[in-house]
Amino acid sequence: MPDLQVTSTSRIFYQVEPTICAILCEAFPEAFKRVAAPAPAPVAARWANSTTTSGFKFINVTCPKCRREDRFDAAREYLATFEAGLCVHAGKCPTEVLAAYGEGGIVPLGAQFK
Ligand SMILES: [Zn+2]
Repeated sequence: MPDLQVTSTSRIFYQVEPTICAILCEAFPEAFKRVAAPAPAPVAARWANSTTTSGFKFINVTCPKCRREDRFDAAREYLATFEAGLCVHAGKCPTEVLAAYGEGGIVPLGAQFK
């Protein structure tokens, strides 16, 4: 179903019945125009820092599109290999997530209470 814009007010009417839309555009070409549907928002995976109950840091990557969850808890030198194995929506690890991960491993005692 097309969307129709009233040119004088810029108001957009969504999902207008196609025949009505065609009639209005034909009869009042200055008053109405069809508007293209907006491009779907790009899907982005979510990167998050987390810690296991025993205190080991890990990075969690969740992709809502692929319904996929991946976990990185290795040394930083393996991050590129990990990233290469993720879905197309994941991209690279955000710098703030990587900074919080540090060298990974166990969280120093008491650090979680800061
Ligand atoms: Zn994905």
